[in-house]
Amino acid sequence: MSDCLKRLDETEPAVRALLEVRREEVLAEAEEMDRQGPNPAQPLWGIPVVLKDLLCARGTKTTCGSRMLEEFAPVYDATAVEHLRQAGAVLLAKANMDEFAMGSSTENSAFQRTRNPWNTDCVPGGSSGGSAATVAARQCPVSLGTDTGGSIRLPASFCGVVGLKPTYGRVSRFGMVAYGSSLDQIGPLTRSVEDAARVLGVIAGHDRRDSTSVDCPVPDYVAALQQRTDLKGLRIGLPEEYWREGLSPEVETACRAAVETLRGLGAETVPVRLSMTEYAIATYYIVAMAEASSNLARFDGVRYGHRTREASELIDMYTRSRTEGFGDEVQRRIIMGTYVLSSGYYDAYYRKAAQVRRLLRDDFRKAFASCDLLAGPVCPSTAFRVGDKADPLQMYLMDIFTISANLAGLPGMSLPVGLGETSNLPVGLQLMGPAFSEETMLGAAHCLE
Ligand code: GLN
Repeated sequence: MSDCLKRLDETEPAVRALLEVRREEVLAEAEEMDRQGPNPAQPLWGIPVVLKDLLCARGTKTTCGSRMLEEFAPVYDATAVEHLRQAGAVLLAKANMDEFAMGSSTENSAFQRTRNPWNTDCVPGGSSGGSAATVAARQCPVSLGTDTGGSIRLPASFCGVVGLKPTYGRVSRFGMVAYGSSLDQIGPLTRSVEDAARVLGVIAGHDRRDSTSVDCPVPDYVAALQQRTDLKGLRIGLPEEYWREGLSPEVETACRAAVETLRGLGAETVPVRLSMTEYAIATYYIVAMAEASSNLARFDGVRYGHRTREASELIDMYTRSRTEGFGDEVQRRIIMGTYVLSSGYYDAYYRKAAQVRRLLRDDFRKAFASCDLLAGPVCPSTAFRVGDKADPLQMYLMDIFTISANLAGLPGMSLPVGLGETSNLPVGLQLMGPAFSEETMLGAAHCLE
């Protein structure tokens, strides 16, 4: 554990991935574990883990990257965190993130700008940018992130690590501060596919405290990896819409080479269509902002979070507390979300988006009639320079290939498949599958490693 802290001290001044580091606590916990000796029943015995700072963990603050929750210290563990602790993991630190998980670069954090360990002029991706950067900087082997519209996969691809967004309902969301409740999932960021499989096995499962968590058995994901040595008989769909214009040449080259490798391992590739892709961004941002506006209504300065010192009366207190507590992007989304849900606009925006969401799901259903998994890029480009995407719309366009999986509730993962020829930055290949196909997805990913 002291080696881990040493590595952290060497890298953290440049990367700034972490918010709260539990220095003394981890050393004490590790010492105690050493005294008791390894426990074979604990698959993550003694493994330091980092949590995105919207996962509640006893003994640490949970800020969500926001002034609003700067001092919020939950008194309970999220279910995923509870599972990690039971499996013997040691909580090392909380990771920086875009405020309330809104963003694709971690530039929206109220506290600090995390840098990409591969090139510190560039962003790590977001919103789980701290979680990806800490693993990429070798500060710890495992972190948890959350993915509402790509926030595990995008930073994983920008930082060259493995990132897995499980099927909606596979992992309990209890104790995760909600952004878009019908889209959110917790998942691991790791150096290897095997580690991702191991961590998923630990955090997955039914939880009566999250009514959307699914009550179906958790397979032995690690054993499933060991069973697969080639990809014979596996059909991989290449969605036409994901391999078209807008894709940077270096991302296309690296991803095509990875698909060739999949073919070399025996997979058959088939062309498929996801014809609603062009509507995905509009649909996602309506649904996500609507849900966010509702989820964030609880931060009113009364129950928890920041309260202004200057209020003259009640409404003024709400307004000032929220204006002071929330950053620009969060305020923009609350306003937009409230607008699309308001009477008179609900039918034109929210209801329409819900209908298109259904069509997007149908697209996937049709595609999976002719293939087992889909492969495509995670993002049209590699990591961009800090400050380069100041226009929110430009930032939203980064999510084009990741948000559909959330709208459809499907699992997806990002795998590092090399460095871009011009940028010298990591490129991620995305695999997506039908609901609860994590075993197949992880198996294919493991073969590609
Ligand atoms: N970039 C997307 C957004 O800002 C995705 C965020 C996420 O997955 N948490 O909404």
